[in-house]
Amino acid sequence: MNTIAFFDAKPYDRESFDRINNGRYDIRYFDTRLTAASLPLVNGCDAVCAFVNDEIDRTVVAGLADAGVQVLALRCAGYNNVDFKAAYDLGLTVVRVPAYSPYAVAEHAAALLLALNRRIHKAVARTRDFNFSLVGLTGFDLHGKTAGVVGMGKIGRVFAGICRGFGMKILAYDAYPNPQEGVEFVPMERLLVESDVISLHCPLTKETQHLFNAEAFAKVKPGVVLLNTSRGGLVDSEALLAALRDGQVGAAGLDVYEEESEWFYEDRSQVIRQNKTLSLLVSMPNVIVTSHQAFLTREALENIATTTLANLDAFFSDAPLENEICYCCTGKDKVTVNCPNRTRGRCIKKKP
Ligand code: NAD
Repeated sequence: MNTIAFFDAKPYDRESFDRINNGRYDIRYFDTRLTAASLPLVNGCDAVCAFVNDEIDRTVVAGLADAGVQVLALRCAGYNNVDFKAAYDLGLTVVRVPAYSPYAVAEHAAALLLALNRRIHKAVARTRDFNFSLVGLTGFDLHGKTAGVVGMGKIGRVFAGICRGFGMKILAYDAYPNPQEGVEFVPMERLLVESDVISLHCPLTKETQHLFNAEAFAKVKPGVVLLNTSRGGLVDSEALLAALRDGQVGAAGLDVYEEESEWFYEDRSQVIRQNKTLSLLVSMPNVIVTSHQAFLTREALENIATTTLANLDAFFSDAPLENEICYCCTGKDKVTVNCPNRTRGRCIKKKP
């Protein structure tokens, strides 16, 4: 039986993986994240299952390869935390879950929008305290307003559909635009200037790092609502803080944060807060921060476990790897479509 070292394991992961695994793999769950320091835990394991805040840099990739790990199974869609060049150089296969529920993430973005606009977070706190005043809770009709969607992939498209349901006009910016009914693809500049709500759904890459910086915030419609359920690094947090302070950004819904790995997914309520930017953002009345939870629905957890284990089944049975990602792939977004090294459905050959 093949053994999987499963990092950053939470009770909801164990529940879904144990149910779907049904005994076919020996899964060793570890609460800790995968970092250079936790590498000894992979000894004797054939596969590693990692998540969004595991740090899979060259040192970790080398450590996995040295320990005889053959495959890294990411149980997420984003893969900005993996050194693919190192994985490619050292022959470590990487697979991921490209889609588990675009609805989960898009609906969370919509939840942030509705809560921020109608001040639901403040209203709940007030009524709990028997304060039934409405002063300061005025929102705006979404109907007739413009939503700007950055990244019209699986999640962006679902979010655009939800916004259309509210009667909003949709502008979109995508590096690889794919025409869609009811959506006007425009240059980024125009999206910034015309949108009342901007929602980020593109991956974090070198090109998109700090896509929303001081320069971008200077161009947005004053009072815009910014939603980020994609990756924290898309937004320069200091610049966002400044834009919130001077009212250029009217509200922000953040499910991700650039330095989230130090804070998110754990109870840090007893820790003295050294991160001033996060503390200030969290304390603002027009900001809602959630702890990278947009994916967290029953359906998404089930799909994550099913696809991750199917990826491993395919790997160990020498079947083609539909969800492999590799450094050499030249397709859109570097996903396995045109990899020159791909033979028999694999980019990296499995070691005998
Ligand atoms: P996707 O690959 O289907 O869509 C991404 C879109 O971004 C594509 O249309 C692509 O062309 C576009 N894009 C690529 N580079 C771009 C650029 N430089 N500028 C503008 N657009 C660009 O991915 P998806 O499934 O829709 O996921 C989107 C992102 O959501 C992921 O990268 C991931 O980081 C994030 N995500 C977050 C959570 C969460 O729980 N918060 C869960 C899943 C995914």
